[in-house]
Amino acid sequence: MLAHVTYSLLILLAGLGVVSAFHPPELQRFEFSEPHMGTTFRIVLYAADEATAKKAAKAAFARIAELNAIMSDYQPTSELMKLCEKAGSPPVQVSADLFDVLRKADEISRITDGAFDVSIGPVVRLWRKAKRSRELPKADDIKKALDRVDFRKIRLDSKGRTVQLLLAGMLLDLGGIAKGYAADAALAVLRQHGITRALVAAGGDIAVGDAPPDAPAWRIGIAPLRNPGAEPTHYLALKNAGVSTAGDSEQFAEIEGKRYSHIIDPKTGYGVVGRRSVTVIAPNATTSDAFDTPICVLGIERGLKLIESRDDLAALLVFETDKGIETIPSNRFANYLWKDTK
Ligand code: ADP
Ligand code: MG
Repeated sequence: MLAHVTYSLLILLAGLGVVSAFHPPELQRFEFSEPHMGTTFRIVLYAADEATAKKAAKAAFARIAELNAIMSDYQPTSELMKLCEKAGSPPVQVSADLFDVLRKADEISRITDGAFDVSIGPVVRLWRKAKRSRELPKADDIKKALDRVDFRKIRLDSKGRTVQLLLAGMLLDLGGIAKGYAADAALAVLRQHGITRALVAAGGDIAVGDAPPDAPAWRIGIAPLRNPGAEPTHYLALKNAGVSTAGDSEQFAEIEGKRYSHIIDPKTGYGVVGRRSVTVIAPNATTSDAFDTPICVLGIERGLKLIESRDDLAALLVFETDKGIETIPSNRFANYLWKDTK
C-alpha cells in the first residue's frame, strides 16, 4: 500500500514578477511536479529559458527516481530490500547513496538516543497492517518485532563501503529520511545545470537553494495542526536550507477511538499517541527530515532540549496536550520568520 500524499507545508512565493536591479532580469519562474516516493515532488526554479528549465527538471526527477529504486521499502527489488535479505549474513557492499543515507541516519540515531531508528521496519510493518485491519497489533508481536530493532546492529564500514545487518530478520525503513535526502539530491542536480535559485518539495520535506530573483528568500507556510488545508499559521523566510514537518495530521491509524501516528517510538514499539506536529529548520532537507520524526517521539521537553543543543537547528513544536494546543518555538525559530518589511 502506498503512503498517502502528504502536504504538511504550503509553498507560497513572494513578490512574483517583480525584478530587482541586482539580478539578471531575464530569469523566469518554472514549476514542475511528479509523483515519487508515495508523494508529489514539486520543483520551482528560475532559469533563463524553458529548454534549460525542462532539461534540468528532467534530470532532477530522474535522480529522485534513482534514489527511490535504491531506498524504497515498498519495492522488493530496491537495493535496501536486497540488503535486508542479507540480514544476519556477512557484510554487503552498497551504493554511495545508500551508504551515505545510512551514515546520516546512524549519526541522528546516536544524537537522539535511538528515538530515530531506521531499523524500525518490523514494527512499521505491524502498524501498517493494524491500520488496514483496524486492530491493534498484539503486544507479543510488537515485542518480537522490537527484538530485531536496534540501530547499533547496523554495522557501517566506510573503507569497503559495506553494510552488515547483525541480526537475522532486520528490516530497514528509510521513510523518515529518504524524501529529505532526495530533495537535497534533486537540488544538487539543478545546481549542476547552472540553476541555483530553486526549491524542491517532497510533500512536507523541502530543500531550498538561493532565493528567487525578486525576493530575499523563499516564503514557506506552516499549515495548522488541526486543518492542514487552512491558511498557514507561520511563514518562514528560507534560503540554502531544509525544512520538514512531521506529525499525525495525515498519516495515522485510528483504532478503538485512539489515534496512533505512523511515527513509532522505538522504545515501546507503539505509534505516538496525541496530536502533534513538528517543523524543523536545518542546513539541508536530509537533516530537517531526519530530525522531525524523533522530535515527535521525544515530546516537548526532551525534543526542545535537543533542538536548543544544536545551533544549526530551529523548530516549531505544536502539541495537543490536556491544556489544549500548545505551540512552542525554539529560541532560534523567530530568526526564520518571514517579515514583510524585508
Ligand atoms: P512523512 O513525511 O512520510 O510523514 P516522516 O519524516 O514523518 O515522514 O517519517 C515518518 C516515517 O518514518 C514513517 O512512515 C516510517 O516509515 C518511519 N519511521 C517511523 N518511526 C520512526 C522512527 N522512530 N525512526 C525512524 N523512522 C521512523
Ligand atoms: Mg522526517
